[in-house]
Amino acid sequence: MKGLLIVISAPSGTGKTTLVNMLMKAFPKMEFSVSCTTRKPRPGEIDGKDYYFISFEEFEKKIENNELLEWAEVYGNFYGTPKDKVIEALNEGKDILLDIDTQGALQVKKNYPDAVLIFILPPSLKELERRLRNRGTEDEETIEKRLLIARRELSLATKYDYIIINDKIEEAFEKLKSIVTAERWRTKRVEEHLPELIKDREMLQLLNS
Ligand code: 5GP
Repeated sequence: MKGLLIVISAPSGTGKTTLVNMLMKAFPKMEFSVSCTTRKPRPGEIDGKDYYFISFEEFEKKIENNELLEWAEVYGNFYGTPKDKVIEALNEGKDILLDIDTQGALQVKKNYPDAVLIFILPPSLKELERRLRNRGTEDEETIEKRLLIARRELSLATKYDYIIINDKIEEAFEKLKSIVTAERWRTKRVEEHLPELIKDREMLQLLNS
């Protein structure tokens, strides 16, 4: 069966990274798509695991060579999803998870309509601001910039297939897991694989009649 292409977006401070990590643990066969970025690595980030950290020139070359499934400029840096790896994983039947911004997610949906787009919302703008400040990793200017971008991103949430409000992380995670499980069992996805899934020949005949 072809793998699922799952795309998750959320304004920064929504708890997206925690949810993505929980999901990868719950579905060990799911692959995380490592993006390319022109942003400098943060302390602790590993090249090839968190991102492929590349120069602007290298990034431009990837765009020219049509090597990216999507790309966007986010917070002044460029980010993009390597196309080959995603297509390869899907063809091998592996589910693949993209953690990308709204501009990229909508490009993916346009080029790959089977992609499942999930938007994670904070419970409120006030709570988002509180979480961003509590993280203590960004300066005031960056926080203000992220809040401004968050407002713009929120206006695109209804273009996604699913919306999850991350009030309590465990509840949000349950919803995320249910979405993945349900999407895997869509009729259009399993239909052509029914002979492998159903051993009862008579029942199979009835399903095909
Ligand atoms: P950060 O620099 O904090 O890791 O990520 C900043 C933003 O860039 C996040 O919203 C993240 O989802 C987004 N992002 C990461 N990789 C990609 C990518 O390959 N494409 C796009 N469009 N956005 C990405």
